[in-house]
Amino acid sequence: MPDFITLTGARENNLKDVTLRIPKGRLTVFTGVSGSGKSSVVFDTIAVESQRQLNETYPWFVRNRLPKFERPHADALEDLTPAIVVDQRPVGGHSRSTVGTMTDVYSVIRVLFSRHGTPSAGPATAYSFNDPSGMCPACDGLGRAVGPDWDRILDPDRSLADGAVRFPPFAAGTWQGQTYTNSPDLDPDKPVGRFTAAEREFLLRGRPGSKVTVSGSGGTWVTDYEGLADRFERLYLKRDLSAMSQKTRDLVREFLVEGVCPACRGARLNAAALATRIGGRSIADCARLQITDLITVLREIDDPVAGPIAGAAVAALERIEAIGLGYLSLDRETATLSGGEGQRLKTVRHLGSSLTGMTYIFDEPSVGLHPRDVGRLGDLLLRLRDKGNTVLVVEHDPDVIALADHVVDMGPGAGAGGGTVVFTGTPGELAASDTLTGRCLRRRPAVREEVRRATGELWVKGAGRHNLRDVTVRFPTGVLTAVTGVAGSGKSSLVAEFTAAHEEAVVVDQSSIGISGRSTPATYLGVMDTVRKIFARETGAEAGLFSFNSGGACPTCEGRGIISTDLAFMDPVTTTCHDCEGRRFREEVLRLTVRGKSVADVLEMTAEQALDFFEDEAVGRRLRALRDVGLTYLTLGQPLSTLSGGERQRIKLATRLHRTGAVYVLDEPTTGLHMADVAGLVGLLDRLVDTGNTVVVVEHNLDVVARADWVIDLGPDGGRDGGEVVFEGTPRQLLETDGSFTAEHLRRFVR
Ligand code: ADP
Ligand code: ADP
Ligand code: ZN
Ligand code: ZN
Repeated sequence: MPDFITLTGARENNLKDVTLRIPKGRLTVFTGVSGSGKSSVVFDTIAVESQRQLNETYPWFVRNRLPKFERPHADALEDLTPAIVVDQRPVGGHSRSTVGTMTDVYSVIRVLFSRHGTPSAGPATAYSFNDPSGMCPACDGLGRAVGPDWDRILDPDRSLADGAVRFPPFAAGTWQGQTYTNSPDLDPDKPVGRFTAAEREFLLRGRPGSKVTVSGSGGTWVTDYEGLADRFERLYLKRDLSAMSQKTRDLVREFLVEGVCPACRGARLNAAALATRIGGRSIADCARLQITDLITVLREIDDPVAGPIAGAAVAALERIEAIGLGYLSLDRETATLSGGEGQRLKTVRHLGSSLTGMTYIFDEPSVGLHPRDVGRLGDLLLRLRDKGNTVLVVEHDPDVIALADHVVDMGPGAGAGGGTVVFTGTPGELAASDTLTGRCLRRRPAVREEVRRATGELWVKGAGRHNLRDVTVRFPTGVLTAVTGVAGSGKSSLVAEFTAAHEEAVVVDQSSIGISGRSTPATYLGVMDTVRKIFARETGAEAGLFSFNSGGACPTCEGRGIISTDLAFMDPVTTTCHDCEGRRFREEVLRLTVRGKSVADVLEMTAEQALDFFEDEAVGRRLRALRDVGLTYLTLGQPLSTLSGGERQRIKLATRLHRTGAVYVLDEPTTGLHMADVAGLVGLLDRLVDTGNTVVVVEHNLDVVARADWVIDLGPDGGRDGGEVVFEGTPRQLLETDGSFTAEHLRRFVR
């Protein structure tokens, strides 16, 4: 077997005929500034070609179900091994997907309960909330159910006679409302908020044999009292929704709230499954435990039959703990995990697998990880390698780079200024080299000594979201504040409380930009409108012609630049449109030029080139915002769907700059940034503060922490062991603090 994966003449995206040998069975880290071409080599060339060749080995009826890949632009790609990409894309998934189901640990626990629990509910599916034999019948295993929103239905400050029941069909004065105002068991003049528990229970559920006198057009009669809750459920919840009028449905919906399922109390399982115990705990109790605690519980099982099963679960759970996710619980829905947490969980799954001879590809696995946990992540990567796999990692973190057997540094710049391999060798050789990465690795930053003075303060008071323990903390305004702490310590939870409490907060996150597939930086920044007007003014044609969503678009590909042909029984073929050659516009439109450039030429310009080309002030201002966030290497026409999470966050930021008196909240804005780019980002944050704004960042990057004016450190650890403010003060004060992991690592980092 050849010892190298070989790329010859790779030209995907900005790559300039890259020729490269990557050692097999080794850990190779790809470095370089953002936009230099790392992803183009690793994802767009190696991973795509590996997958494409693999797909070709399947029969057509399987191939038809697989995603389609075009052959990457390269002269040759040789000796690839099957690639597995472990990326940051949110794990997402429906609400039936939990940490337990995703990692398969829950299925092991199910077997444990069915064989060893008492009384046993049957085979292992009887403990599955995704199987009819195990799921709670009230909520179908979702753990949540919709029920009446009592806070909305009842006004606690009013009495029954005075309109306490706000749900119109049961309100005072209506026919049904008489049940409550006339009941001899209820005081009609007492505010319902002051009812005793027994009175409230009677209002909602009544009591067998209780009567009430009501009157209607047919006279007056005595009838059985029906509790408010019983009546609401009978008339609106236990009925087929489609049998109600739209108006009724809309009305009822206003008075509903989603809450924990009352039947299973969120445990998702039916009574039989929940009755089974091991050591006094039900399977739901186990799923709710923090993983570190569950490990302790399972270790105590020493029965000869159950012991080995528990041992298998412990082994899997220890892998989760080893990558710093021990603060999660098995019942945590995967849709609520951050991108970094999801990526690390996917890694765990692969670690348990016995495949060897694969190529594992990771996209910045250190995202969301505190420096304390980067070492553990490194161990995992090395274990994957030692099982006989090739591990390729795109990474900026110096601690991960240091672990590599081999480093490929891309550059020298971004976009058209990048696309070449500027260095290959060991991390030691890289650190001694004259590349930008090498120089950055040698530098030792200093903490900010002259911190800015706060102009005021904003508070979060008594915060209890997730693991926060009644946190009250001050955020100074008019300065740059870094919120730090190990993963799971409560940073996002605290920042969520902060944004919820302060309306003026401008949150710039990494979530996708929910716009059409044809969006580009030019349309997103609002530059395209002006460009069209300039073309119309200079050429005398109609502005609408210069839009690829309009009549000016190439009719063959409808402005997409590509054509996808569906063939029966074969892969659809995606080809560049032969008519416009991928340029998206009609020939007549392409002939209309401004200073020698057509609108398609403009879309192929990088933002940097466009800045030189356009004199228009509005265009200039918007493109300079892109420069401020370090994205001028993007072309005006690059589909936004191709941007990374970090790039998305920064392009959003570009459209929200130039405010004053705003409060910016950013979650790990250094994601995807090379050490050299981080300096630019810190400069941008500084400018935001200096023009009268407040900036709050959740960050692990020690460069940013060192340059902050104020640090709020959460901890001491993650999950149950976190949720407290362990330090607040300046970076200089943090350096002199004990009992903070962040302080420990900052001391190691700065000079
Ligand atoms: P890195 O991973 O080093 O940040 P990339 O390989 O993602 O860099 O990008 C290299 C260059 O290719 C950049 O100029 C980027 O804008 C461009 N690029 C990346 N993906 C695409 C794409 N799908 N279409 C067009 N250009 C792209
Ligand atoms: P950090 O941002 O420091 O990584 P988080 O605020 O995300 O920490 O998490 C703090 C704690 O709250 C952890 O124990 C985490 O598992 C828990 N948590 C976070 N989000 C949710 C959620 N949506 N549902 C349940 N628990 C959550
Ligand atoms: Zn239920
Ligand atoms: Zn076309």
